[in-house]
Amino acid sequence: MSTDVKRGIRAVPGNFVPLIEIDNLQVEYLAGRGSVRAVDGVSFSIGKGEVVGLAGESGSGKSTIAQAIMRILQPPAIITGGKVLIEGKDVLQMSDKQIRDFRWDEVSMVFQSAMNSLNPVMTVGDQIIDAILAHRKISEQQAREQAKEMLRIVGIEADRIDSYPHQLSGGMRQRAVIAIALALQPPLMIMDEPTTALDVVVQREILAKITELREQFGFSILFITHDMSLLVEISDRIAIMYGGEIVEMAPSRELFENPLHPYTQGLMASFPALTGPRKRLEGIPGSPPDLISPPSGCRFHPRCPHRFGPCDSIHPPLIEVRPNHFVACHLHTTPEGSAQ
Ligand code: SF4
Repeated sequence: MSTDVKRGIRAVPGNFVPLIEIDNLQVEYLAGRGSVRAVDGVSFSIGKGEVVGLAGESGSGKSTIAQAIMRILQPPAIITGGKVLIEGKDVLQMSDKQIRDFRWDEVSMVFQSAMNSLNPVMTVGDQIIDAILAHRKISEQQAREQAKEMLRIVGIEADRIDSYPHQLSGGMRQRAVIAIALALQPPLMIMDEPTTALDVVVQREILAKITELREQFGFSILFITHDMSLLVEISDRIAIMYGGEIVEMAPSRELFENPLHPYTQGLMASFPALTGPRKRLEGIPGSPPDLISPPSGCRFHPRCPHRFGPCDSIHPPLIEVRPNHFVACHLHTTPEGSAQ
């Protein structure tokens, strides 16, 4: 990707001040049959106070990006290239001590299943207190008071501080996980499918709470999901991933009203809108690509209803085709595509 394009992806409207800049990130999984490039040259930034959504099918690389930012990838996954700059510091070059300080203090993470993130044999209060005491030189009593305050902020009565995870409802457990992630008030929270395991009513309550907290504390969010309707509601900008690459990125309303990449259009048609009239849902035929030997040219071409001349041989670069709207598709970036 050219420097101009990378710079362009950062150029969003308004008072954009970058908090984190991901530059040409590459992650590989060493598999028996060869290596899998799970993230292949991904670049984007998140501004201070901004919510960036990352969408795509399972295996598109979105959760791998989150784990690479946190430096929690486990072998056989390895980061093979790129930079993750947070306020100028490269996370990928940090020592083990620096990375321990960085996690939770500067970036925290909310995972999909609260039951898997919480320790079942510790009270939720103790789990928040542990996170605070690992990073702050304060007394246990002060940490307990802070933990109560965090629970109250996420909408849980402070007297539930001594409850074990199994004594809370699914929605309360997910709020408790958000309280832990918020405990040190990091400038960036990564939320990986934070509402997927919840029913629709609780999902909406959690989303409303996340939006309220973001307005109150001003942190940035990288919000990962495969659910487009949810992402359009919560995000300022959305990046669509396919086969380890970003294939489209735009402000969320622009993407919702004018999706350009055929894969984005397919994703949009695969999910019901949370509001508005009922309509027939369509899936995307075919399967995600095998990244050990990805398709030549455009990785989406075997599934694309609009493929034409160059699609199976020339890899489409990510290009800004409208203000702040980037797409990697020959339909929008070649004269032959415009004529289709
Ligand atoms: Fe479809 Fe070709 Fe665009 Fe790929 S480049 S999404 S195959 S039209």
